[in-house]
Amino acid sequence: MRASNLYAPTLRNTPAEAEIVSHQLMYRAGFIRKSAGGMYTFLPLAWRTIRKIEQIIREEMDAAGGQEIMMPILQPSELWEESGRWSVYGAEMMRIKDRHGRDFCLGPTHEEMMTALVRDEVRSYKQLPLLLYQIQDKFRDERRPRFGLMRSREFIMQDLYSFDKDVEAMNVSYKKMYDAYARIFTRCGLAFRPVEADNGAIGGGHSHEFTVLAENGESSIAVCTKCDYAASDEKAELAVIKAQEEEQLPLEKVATPNTSTIEALVDFLKVPVEKTIKAVAYQTDAGELVLAFVRGDHEVNEIKVLNAIEGAQELAMAEEALITAAGGCAGFMSPIGIKAGTHIVVDATVMEMYNAVAGANEKDAHYKNVNPKRDFTNEGLIVTDIRLVKEGDPCPHCGAPLTMTRGIEAGQVFTLGTKYSEAMGAKFLDENGKEHPLYMGCYGIGVGRTMAAAIEQNNDEDGIVWPRAIAPFEVLVVAVNAKKDDQLAYAEEIYGECQKAGFDTLLDDRKERAGVKFKDADLIGYPLRITIGPKAVEEGDIEVKIRKTGEVHHFTRENYLEEVKKLLSTL
Ligand code: ATP
Ligand code: MG
Repeated sequence: MRASNLYAPTLRNTPAEAEIVSHQLMYRAGFIRKSAGGMYTFLPLAWRTIRKIEQIIREEMDAAGGQEIMMPILQPSELWEESGRWSVYGAEMMRIKDRHGRDFCLGPTHEEMMTALVRDEVRSYKQLPLLLYQIQDKFRDERRPRFGLMRSREFIMQDLYSFDKDVEAMNVSYKKMYDAYARIFTRCGLAFRPVEADNGAIGGGHSHEFTVLAENGESSIAVCTKCDYAASDEKAELAVIKAQEEEQLPLEKVATPNTSTIEALVDFLKVPVEKTIKAVAYQTDAGELVLAFVRGDHEVNEIKVLNAIEGAQELAMAEEALITAAGGCAGFMSPIGIKAGTHIVVDATVMEMYNAVAGANEKDAHYKNVNPKRDFTNEGLIVTDIRLVKEGDPCPHCGAPLTMTRGIEAGQVFTLGTKYSEAMGAKFLDENGKEHPLYMGCYGIGVGRTMAAAIEQNNDEDGIVWPRAIAPFEVLVVAVNAKKDDQLAYAEEIYGECQKAGFDTLLDDRKERAGVKFKDADLIGYPLRITIGPKAVEEGDIEVKIRKTGEVHHFTRENYLEEVKKLLSTL
């Protein structure tokens, strides 16, 4: 490929809407252009990278026993009615009607379609395990599409679905996919962590996210400083902290004017923050009140609260009227005196406190000497871990301190159990002719998000620094002055030799100034640049620059191919 033919319009300036570096660089380096909010065209350079990531995915999926298929993107509502998700998927689902008024959606994911496919064909345990995957566009009408390919409304996803005969076999498939995903991100040249994750709306079993480490990532993850435990902040389990035992003093109501925040309360009563109890009020999608309580210096993990409430799909901040009707008072809340029928979820650490301070459920008043085990007598009280992890919390596996880092969720794997197969009647006959529902797993990688994550992780002030495996081209040959026939001819020869040696090479034959071409080379981020100027033509001096380190090597015409090969293998 010659740069004179390449459609890669580079820009000096960054469009205002591009907030993060990967988005800015993809714009400036001529990789993507926007068509509408959260929808992008991949230009040739981007498409080459996408194709390379997809190829790595395909090789690993096939090696793990996956078979590639292609399903329609349009999905009939009937299948989603069967699984029960048509009504609960919400505004993120892009819904359309055909000319007959029938409902369809643009697939946000394909559990229903896959389950429907196999239920009609898979009859016997002999057909299992079955692993089917596709790489195609998915659609999600995200509340806030942003960060370019990171969170778009139309995006490319690889999604695999596994079907097995029992839990053990399902876990074997899960492990296979987990390992394959780890190989994919390793082969892409990315620093990542598989982290224990919440299952979210998809339901059932266990899950890991593959998080590409990056400072600006949207995901916050807790990583043990000693063992290999890592979990998303939503998921990270926390052990109960037991306070020093004290004699339980009698409950006492005290006036605490203008202390609706923990800071104000601590200041006013001069108590340590670890002696206070904090409340957060939510309401479920069914309009039921949920009161969550954690220690004053802790934060509530909303996902854990949601998981604790059976049947709830979503939580929102509670309306004040709902709180008042339950006998509560915003800013001054405790479980004491809250009406029956309210969901009350107390963090397990709170139950181990002695003589603490908590709201009195009236304005400007708190209770002192609250002893939760004695005083929280509400019927149906739920005690569980609802705390949000923070830096320094103990690891649930080894007790060493956890450290918080950030990253980008590039892939996620789930076991689904029989959630979909039971709802949709996907059954098979075992060795004894007995009928069982299929055990499923699902696995997804965001291909565009992986590309964006690679840039987030690998860039400098001059532009992108591609890992070799997913660079649009591995080697760039620049004819310094392409108006000079001898330089251009020499560069053409080198280009031909590089191609023959199997390097994925681009020749910059544009009749631009050298400075412009070098700037573009750094911006686009080719791993190696071979510079062909007068010294090459006259002395056979081949200059090779490594994008990542800025190192410059000088080789001879005789040895440069060997040396380039060696250098590439390190990038
Ligand atoms: P998120 O929590 O970031 O919204 P998700 O957990 O809903 O993502 P999954 O259903 O697990 O996403 O989808 C599998 C993969 O698809 C994700 O790991 C991510 O890489 C990618 N993906 C999901 N939503 C988007 C999006 N809006 N734009 C680009 N990629 C996405
Ligand atoms: Mg996910």
